[in-house]
Amino acid sequence: MPITLKTCANGKKGPWIMWSLPLLRYTDVPPRVTENFILSGYRFPNYSLRQCLVSAFRPTNETGNFWTHFLPIFVFTFHFLEVFTWEGAPEPSNPFFYPFWNYFLGVLYLLLGSSLAHLLNSMSLIIREICFFVDYGTISAYTVGSSLAYYYYIHPQAGIPEIGFEGKNSTRRKSLNADEESWSSASSPTQVQLFFDSLYIPSSCLIAIICVITCCNTRQCWRKYRYAVRTLVFLLPFFISSAPVFYRLLSPSASSPSSSSPHLFSTMATFFYRHCFWLVVSAFFNISKIPERFSPGNFDIWGHSHQWFHCCTFLSILDELQMIKVEMWALLPGPTLWSTYGIMVLLQGCIFLFCILLCEQCLNDFCSITLKRIGHPKMIIVIIY
Ligand SMILES: [Zn+2]
Repeated sequence: MPITLKTCANGKKGPWIMWSLPLLRYTDVPPRVTENFILSGYRFPNYSLRQCLVSAFRPTNETGNFWTHFLPIFVFTFHFLEVFTWEGAPEPSNPFFYPFWNYFLGVLYLLLGSSLAHLLNSMSLIIREICFFVDYGTISAYTVGSSLAYYYYIHPQAGIPEIGFEGKNSTRRKSLNADEESWSSASSPTQVQLFFDSLYIPSSCLIAIICVITCCNTRQCWRKYRYAVRTLVFLLPFFISSAPVFYRLLSPSASSPSSSSPHLFSTMATFFYRHCFWLVVSAFFNISKIPERFSPGNFDIWGHSHQWFHCCTFLSILDELQMIKVEMWALLPGPTLWSTYGIMVLLQGCIFLFCILLCEQCLNDFCSITLKRIGHPKMIIVIIY
C-alpha cells in the first residue's frame, strides 16, 4: 500500500489524480500524524506541493483548519484598513501608524502561517514538523505586534507623548501628567512605571521566545499533555502583553471620567472583555476536544474542535483590533476649523451658488416668456394704450 500511495502522490499524473485517492483512516498513517478522536479524512503523508494546494478544495480533516484561518485574513485586513479612512487620520506611512502596522504584520503572520501549516503539512513528516514550528513561531510575531500596539496606543504613559498627537481626548492627555505626578509621589506605582518603561517590551519578546520553544518541544515530548501545554503557552503571552489594558482597567485615575472619556473607556473595556471571552472559549475547545470527544468519527471533516479553536481565536483578534482602534481614535487629532466650519461653509457656499444659478435660469426663462408675451399683438396694444 505505501508503494502505491507514493506513486500516486508524487504527482506524475498531475494533481487531479489526488481526487481519486481515498483518504486514510488513523490506523493507516503514522501515530504522530493522528489527532485525538479524529478517525478518518487523513491525507497521504507524501503529497506534492500542488496536491497540497489542491487539497484546500477537497474535504479532508485539514480543509476546515485551513479555511478558518485563511478567510479571516481578508476580514481582518478590511477592518484594519478602515482606520485610514477616518477623518483627520494621518497618512498610512506616518510614524503614528508604525505600531499599528507591526500589529497587522503579527496577525498576518499568525493567520497565514497557521493556514499554510495546515495545508502543507502532508508533504512529508519533516515538512510537517517545519510547518508547525513556523506556525508556533508566528505566535511570537503576534505577541510582539500586540505588545507594541498596546504600548503605544493603550498604555496611559509610555509611547503616547512620543507619538506627538494632541488627541481628541485632551482630558486623557492631561491625565497623563496627573498620573506622572501621582506615580512619582507614590512608591509602588513607580515600579509599575519602571516595568512599562523598561521591561514591558523586552518581557513580551522573552515570553514569546519561551512560548515558541515550549510549543515546538510539545511535538517531541510531553505529547500526552500537548494540547494543555500549547493552550497555556498561548495564554501566557496574553497576560504579559495585556498588562497595559489591565492597568487602564484597574487604575482609578486612568478610568475616572475626568481622565478619560467614559464612553470611550467603556467601549474599550467591552471589546477587551469580549477578547478575553473568545480566548477562554478557544482554550476550552483546544483542551476539551469537544465535540469530537463525544462522537469520534462524526466530526472528522467539519466541525471538530480545532476549527472552533481557530474561529474563536480570530474573533478574539477581531475584538482586540476594535479595542486598539478605539484607543487610536482617541489619539487622533480632534476637530479642526476645516473639518467643521470649513465643511459647513463649503456646503452653504455650494447651496448659495446653486441658488444663484437657479435664479439666473429662472430670470432668463421669465425674460424670454415676457418677451414672447410682449411679442403678442394684444399685448402690444395694451402696452401702446
Ligand atoms: Zn491550527
